[in-house]
Amino acid sequence: MDPFYASSILFLGLSFGSFLNVCIYRLPLGLSVVTPRSQCPRCKHLIAFYDNMPVISWLILRGRCRQCKTRISPRYLFIELLTGALFLGCYAYFGLTLATFKYCAFGFLILGLIFTDAETKLLPDKLTLPGLALGIIFSLLVPVNDLASQFLSGVVNLPFSADVSTRLLSLLDSLLGAALGVAAAAAQDTGAKQDMKDAGQDTKDAAKDTGKATKKTAKKATNKAAKKTKQGANKVDDKTKPSPSDNK
Ligand SMILES: [Zn+2]
Repeated sequence: MDPFYASSILFLGLSFGSFLNVCIYRLPLGLSVVTPRSQCPRCKHLIAFYDNMPVISWLILRGRCRQCKTRISPRYLFIELLTGALFLGCYAYFGLTLATFKYCAFGFLILGLIFTDAETKLLPDKLTLPGLALGIIFSLLVPVNDLASQFLSGVVNLPFSADVSTRLLSLLDSLLGAALGVAAAAAQDTGAKQDMKDAGQDTKDAAKDTGKATKKTAKKATNKAAKKTKQGANKVDDKTKPSPSDNK
C-alpha cells in the first residue's frame, strides 16, 4: 500500500462521509444537497469551513455547535469514519484500480441508504437511481463474476473474444438485475397505491354508514317529536273542548 495514495484515499473517504451526512439529513426532506451551506439545525448559524472538516472539527468542538453549544450527534463522526475506512479498505484490497472506484461508489450509496432507511424508513430516488445507472456502467468496466454471470457464460456463447464476452455477459447480468429491481419497485408502488385506494374507499364507506345512521336517528327523533306534538295537541284539544257541564 502506497502511503501517499492510502492517506489521500482515506481523506477522500472522510470527505465523502461528511457529504453523506448532508445527504442523509437533506434528501428525505427534499432539500438540495448543494445549497445552502451547512448550518446548525438549532441556531441556524452557517458553519464555517474550518468547523466543517471531517472528523477533526467534530473532535475539536467536542460534538457541539460553536455558537449555541447544541450537541451534534456522534452519528456524524461515525459515518465519516465508516466511509473513510470503507474507501481505505477498498484501496487496500483492490489497489489503484477501477474496482476500487466501483466498490467505493457502491459502498458510499449503500451506507447512505442504510442510514437514511434506519432514520426515516425511506430510500431516496436520488441515491437509488444513480446507483442503478452506475451499476450498469460499472458492469462493463469491472465485470461482475456472480452465479448469474457464470451461468450465462455456460449457456450463451457470444462470437467475441473472451474478454469482450465476459463484459457483455456482465452487462446482461446487470441489466437483468436492474429490470428485476425496477419491476419489484413498480409492483410495490402499485400495491401501495391500491392500499391507499382501499383505505380511501373504507373511509368513504364509513362516512356513508355514519350518514345513514345519523339520518335514521334523526328520522326516529323527528317521528317521536311529531308523535309527542300530536299527543300534546290532542290533550290541548280535549281541554279546549267545552265540557258538557259548562252549558248548564
Ligand atoms: Zn447552533
